[in-house]
Amino acid sequence: DAQRLAGDVAIVTGASSGIGEATAEALADAGASVVLAARRADELEALADRIESAGGDALVVPTDVTDEDDIDSLVDATTDEYGRIDILVNNAGVMLLEPLERADRSNLRQMVEVNLLGLMNLTHAVLPVMQEQESGHIVNVSSVAGRRASADSSGYNATKFGVNAFTEAVRQEVTTQGIRTTVIEPGAVDTELATHVPDEQVLERFAEMDLPMLHPDDIARGIVYATSQPARVDVNELLIRPTGQD
Ligand code: NDP
Repeated sequence: DAQRLAGDVAIVTGASSGIGEATAEALADAGASVVLAARRADELEALADRIESAGGDALVVPTDVTDEDDIDSLVDATTDEYGRIDILVNNAGVMLLEPLERADRSNLRQMVEVNLLGLMNLTHAVLPVMQEQESGHIVNVSSVAGRRASADSSGYNATKFGVNAFTEAVRQEVTTQGIRTTVIEPGAVDTELATHVPDEQVLERFAEMDLPMLHPDDIARGIVYATSQPARVDVNELLIRPTGQD
């Protein structure tokens, strides 16, 4: 059943690279129309071209999830084009790891605004559409860092623990309305994420560790699994580590 999401409409944030890009492609392969949201419009256009060349359907909506007007425009553009929203993948994120004593407050703010507040606001904006449909699926990309805190990761941990708490609370509000919620918790995945780490010492330590890594596609398959279950099945949490990560 290669087209198990046929007719579904999915918004994917952070679709310009990494896990979001792989997820958009996988959802499109499964038959969903995908709405590609992130700041880098050129990357989104290139992805839309690839999806459409492969016979899929994509809409590009350049979006900064820290901008509430952009959030509302993303939802409006999606409903104007397709009239519904079946799947929301809140994947946009930044990981600006620093020990707190050296942390730049603007980095702490950016992590909260992208990883947590952006996800909360977009979920809030999409919810009325899903409630009207009496169906929908909210997929929030958290992390192993949403379950286990560690040194040099305090701000990032706070946002990902927040994502898990937010999602569980929303789950209790909407599960009786036919709306499903999934938290995805990846371990290390080979993407651009760590390239934005501002702290030289953290970067050097990463470079020396030579960690096993998942491919973005390994997470995308989990998201397709969760979203393509029968309506009675609500996969609430998926923790996916690379084999060998402690
Ligand atoms: P990437 O850096 O490759 O992707 C991050 C995506 O987020 C990009 O598409 C980026 O797009 C987007 N983004 C960043 N800021 C904003 C913003 N203000 N508005 C809209 N989009 C934004 O990293 P990953 O694919 O690894 O990260 C995806 C998610 O997976 C994140 O939430 C991350 O925390 C999580 N994760 C990743 C792990 C890993 O090891 N890689 C492990 C566990 C969780 P653009 O710059 O174009 O806006």
